[in-house]
Amino acid sequence: MEVSSVKKLEQLEYSLESVTDLSSSSVSSSSPAVATFSYVDGVTELRFLQSDSTHCFNFDLASAQLFKLGPVHFICVSDGSSSSEEKSFSKGVNIKFKNEKDSKDFCESFEEWRNDSVVQGSSLQNGTVSANKSKFDNKIEASSAKMYFHYYGQLLHQQNMLQDYVRTGTYYAAVMENHSDFAGRVVVDVGAGSGILSMFAAQAGAKHVYAVEASEMAEYARKLIAGNPLFADRITVIKGKVEDIELPEKADILISEPMGTLLVNERMLESYVIARDRFMTPKGKMFPTVGRIHMAPFSDEFLFIEMANKAMFWQQQNYYGVDLTPLYGSAHQGYFSQPVVDAFDPRLLVASPMFHMIDFTQMKEEDFYEIDIPLKFTASMCTRMHGLACWFDVLFDGSTVQRWLTTAPGAPTTHWYQIRCVLSQPIYVMAGQEITGRLHLIAHSAQSYTIDLTLSAKMWGPGASQGGILQSSTCKFDLKEPYYRMSQPQAYPVAQEPPLQPQPELSTQDIQTPNDELEEELLQQLPQNPSAQL
Ligand code: SAH
Repeated sequence: MEVSSVKKLEQLEYSLESVTDLSSSSVSSSSPAVATFSYVDGVTELRFLQSDSTHCFNFDLASAQLFKLGPVHFICVSDGSSSSEEKSFSKGVNIKFKNEKDSKDFCESFEEWRNDSVVQGSSLQNGTVSANKSKFDNKIEASSAKMYFHYYGQLLHQQNMLQDYVRTGTYYAAVMENHSDFAGRVVVDVGAGSGILSMFAAQAGAKHVYAVEASEMAEYARKLIAGNPLFADRITVIKGKVEDIELPEKADILISEPMGTLLVNERMLESYVIARDRFMTPKGKMFPTVGRIHMAPFSDEFLFIEMANKAMFWQQQNYYGVDLTPLYGSAHQGYFSQPVVDAFDPRLLVASPMFHMIDFTQMKEEDFYEIDIPLKFTASMCTRMHGLACWFDVLFDGSTVQRWLTTAPGAPTTHWYQIRCVLSQPIYVMAGQEITGRLHLIAHSAQSYTIDLTLSAKMWGPGASQGGILQSSTCKFDLKEPYYRMSQPQAYPVAQEPPLQPQPELSTQDIQTPNDELEEELLQQLPQNPSAQL
């Protein structure tokens, strides 16, 4: 389907306390001014006109940047002007507002107009991406985005997700059980991949589905959908980023699978809420609706020793005549900055989990830039605590059925597994002892997060009333560089008499089997830790 609707922005004006040319040495040129946003001949422009009309400064918004120096003080710069003789020079102005409200309103308009500068122009075709930088490109490194969309452009990775039957089956059930939410409605599939969720929505009776996919997978989705004539005429595949493309109508319902490890990895939830604001009607529904990050401290001596042992390689003083020890510290730190991804036995948890809720219907895109979670647990046993285990679930808040998709330990394993942040300095805890801390997630431009984790155990027993912190451990992790532990050789369970002594290597975190049923059966045989259940 052709998409031709292009938003026409109204001209906007803001009055300023002063505007000064940054390249001019004269201070006297500062004077009250008016800032105007306008759309002229295909260019979105920001113009500062001094009230005495002595100076006018024009900026093409596609290349302009705004830097905040104070509550009402900014500089606006751009990489050149439209007149050819000045083209090679950057230009900038120093601007001051009368009050914070004016400055805030101006900033919001600046963002809005700058984002629109990439989609303005009636010649934009359905799904065409402008050569100018978009909201996505402004915050994500080009090299990261290239690798990311290359990855998703390959059928094998889409197949991997399709073959996660817990994931795909839960989506199917959530859509079909709530078919009344889809029947006769307009749907947007945010990051459609192979188009599977679009086809679920169509099966549930959607009037029309816009399947938006930025990677080359969009071509395969077209082919797959064309080969399913029952739905083909009700699905339009649009190749492009949800941040950039335009749609001819608003959607009643958004469907997406934007979750990464720890829920937020890949930073696609930001695209999900951008799609909400751009395409969804105010009363629309989101599938999924909310997500929760669950966290609990764990104890796993085997994992800790395994990680510490990896760095031991650098303890060699005579490696072909070379002393490797100068790099031991860095190697050790490197291993302990990798979040561990595997499926672990919930019995390794040493306290009841807590969760942090993220409401996709309410979160603003910027709310995902920094996520700060205060931690508080009560140790349920006396042990050495090695770090924080995390997993997530999402809710499909349908009108008929509310369904959760969970990645919890002990539940059927998904391709997300669980993640564990292992502290290089474990902490001893006693049953009943309070464990506090902080999980601080900071988004970075490689579509992932830096994780700062602090866990502390308060003094327990005599002296506790003085309330001092007894032990505290802090580590930094890069969510982009996980240690996929399940690819390591694992002990395989053999059907035989149970061993007399407990055999730790047969705990579920080590069990890897291609046979889902066997794995589930084994998990069911294990006594469940009620605290790990949702
Ligand atoms: N919906 C499919 C694929 C999920 S994987 C399924 O459930 O099987 C996420 C998909 O979203 C990937 O194919 C990725 O290329 C796409 N994607 C990620 N960010 C996007 C964005 N900003 N705009 C459009 N597509 C995006």
